[in-house]
Amino acid sequence: MTSIPSPSDGSLAGLRALVTGGASGIGLATAHALLARGAHVACLDLEPAGAPEPLIGIRCDVSDDDGVPAAVADAAERLGGVDILINNAGIGAQGTVEDGELDQWRTVFDVNLLGMVRVTRAALPWLRRSTAAAVVNTCSIAATAGLPRRALYSASKGAVLSLTLAMAADHAPEGIRVNCVNPGTVDTPWVQRLLAAAADPAAEHEALRRRQPIGRLVSAEEVAAAIVYLASPAAGATTGTALAVDGGMQGLRLPPP
Ligand code: NAD
Repeated sequence: MTSIPSPSDGSLAGLRALVTGGASGIGLATAHALLARGAHVACLDLEPAGAPEPLIGIRCDVSDDDGVPAAVADAAERLGGVDILINNAGIGAQGTVEDGELDQWRTVFDVNLLGMVRVTRAALPWLRRSTAAAVVNTCSIAATAGLPRRALYSASKGAVLSLTLAMAADHAPEGIRVNCVNPGTVDTPWVQRLLAAAADPAAEHEALRRRQPIGRLVSAEEVAAAIVYLASPAAGATTGTALAVDGGMQGLRLPPP
């Protein structure tokens, strides 16, 4: 068992963190931010090679029933325990409720929702042994904002928001905090791929930029900072919340910049 760093200095010295989807975008930025605060970090990802040393990269498909417990145990043993779980792996989908085969709906839920369930179940025995246990789920503003042509993705993230609140209630008595972040549009390889596939990438970028009152996309580092805060002892009294990191998209009613 590690001693708990002081809540006041932002240090995560000695804490052990597991980040899913940690080889790219928000997950990789979070892994680096955790590392910078002194945590030991393992990244579970389909492509763990994206996580350079001293990050521990472990191959894991969060939709694999048998693979997840083995990967989490491997990470926990190499870290010497788990204090912080960042459930971040996720995939996107576009379209209305009429679009996509039902199999696509099953696949997205299998990664975005059940992936978090699998990893959390495997990590809970380790988290219970921690004196600074925290889970942060990467949700999305799509869970609460009613975005057009995002029915499947939004529904999967709505489920993540509900799961976060229910987990927070269930595990508060045993000292495990559970929160989520709701990012807006974040400049990550995922969004770069979406833009590259658009008929008019510049126009699409402009539309995404104007959708957020701050007039720009959010950076992966800005989301990582929010995740790290929620995971840290500084947020010791915070559980069952969704922290928006969305450039004001949800909360503000301003004309687009
Ligand atoms: P990204 O594509 O840059 O990174 C996602 C990572 O997850 C990749 O490394 C990928 O290999 C990994 N991954 C995907 N499926 C996996 C699986 N089955 N098992 C293990 N790893 C898997 O994407 P990102 O933009 O950094 O997104 C990260 C999270 O943030 C996702 O949950 C996404 O829904 C959420 N999010 C992103 C945005 C945005 O605008 N980029 C906005 C809101 C929420």
